[in-house]
Amino acid sequence: MPALVLGPKARVFRGHVWVYASEVIRTEGDPGPGDAVELLDKKGRFAGVALYNPASQLVARRVSRRRVTVDHAFFVERLQQALRVRAGFPDPVYRVAFSEADGLPGAVVDRYGDVVVLQTLTFAMDQRQDLLVDAIQAVLSPRTIVERNDASVRKLEGLALRTGVLRGPEPAPFEVSVHGVRQVVDVLQGQKTGLYLDQLDAYPRVARYAAGKRVLDCFSNQGGFALHAARVGARQVIAVDQSAGAVQSILHNAKLNGVEIEAVEANAFDYLKAEEQARSGFDLVVLDPPSFTRSKKSVQDALRGYKEIHLRAMRLLAPGGVLATFSCSHHVSREAFWQVIADAAVDARRTLRLVESHDQRADHPVVAGLPETEYLKGFTLEVMAD
Ligand code: SAH
Repeated sequence: MPALVLGPKARVFRGHVWVYASEVIRTEGDPGPGDAVELLDKKGRFAGVALYNPASQLVARRVSRRRVTVDHAFFVERLQQALRVRAGFPDPVYRVAFSEADGLPGAVVDRYGDVVVLQTLTFAMDQRQDLLVDAIQAVLSPRTIVERNDASVRKLEGLALRTGVLRGPEPAPFEVSVHGVRQVVDVLQGQKTGLYLDQLDAYPRVARYAAGKRVLDCFSNQGGFALHAARVGARQVIAVDQSAGAVQSILHNAKLNGVEIEAVEANAFDYLKAEEQARSGFDLVVLDPPSFTRSKKSVQDALRGYKEIHLRAMRLLAPGGVLATFSCSHHVSREAFWQVIADAAVDARRTLRLVESHDQRADHPVVAGLPETEYLKGFTLEVMAD
């Protein structure tokens, strides 16, 4: 097997699985794009097998500390291991494999009952897509396997964007039920691979504060928080999203569940501002915006955006009101996000106390030593009486 000889500061010697071009001292045996390579230290000691792509700054990702062959059996074993940690999930709707966090760098596999959605995000995984599809078929026996290879990160690996059916019949939009709430999933056209799987467990947890209340769900997408709030008997639920498709889905999902939701197609920043000027009051506000920053460079802008929506949301809440807020920006740490909330509370002249912390769902595991696997954090806070 060809090899990459790495300098002593390489991140793989500190628990990471990524190899940067700058960490490679020497390449032996002329590996081609996508090839498996051995990782060696300067003294020739073996540090694992990785998949190589010289076209990317991130030239290799380790797939194992062992001398493995990345073949059908390898993928089957990885998927079985991934399934073991998800065995306790009550509904068959979850991320089966979360890339590096499941020992499959560059591969994301989502399951919606008997429909499986695959993403191959690196050159090496794309090259092995057929192997992965065979392994998915062997382990999960789905009716249909779809690829959602339209994520722009593929461009960094020199890959084209594609979406389509890989195995089985083409799935029309279908219904799933998670935590007792029904939602329509369109795996070919929906945002992400159909649903925001990482938030599914947060819906019922936030809905605990919704009974009898006036609820505003901002950045609602298909209405996960709004639907659960309505189902537990919120007095009124308003869901805001700027996407017309999302608003249609919210209304459709509301009907499916026999609940009433006012879905508003609007920019949430503008909506919050207008409600603040109208002196509206809400008892529960949910903020679940998209990532405001994809890089370290724009973190300050992202923090300003977070502060603005928090400040406005706090002004809409009376004492006893609840704010459930989330950030999915990897580059905004939990501490930085918490500080934004504290700063917004100062400006809003409110005291908020934490009643619950949130993480990404357990089907998106976080690996110790691999900070990039952690991205979603959230807080449910109560506005205290003065
Ligand atoms: N809460 C959702 C996920 C939200 S993802 C869930 O659990 O499923 C972020 C959503 O914000 C997307 O649906 C996107 O369409 C919407 N969005 C992005 N920018 C927006 C803006 N400025 N105003 C309103 N919605 C926005």
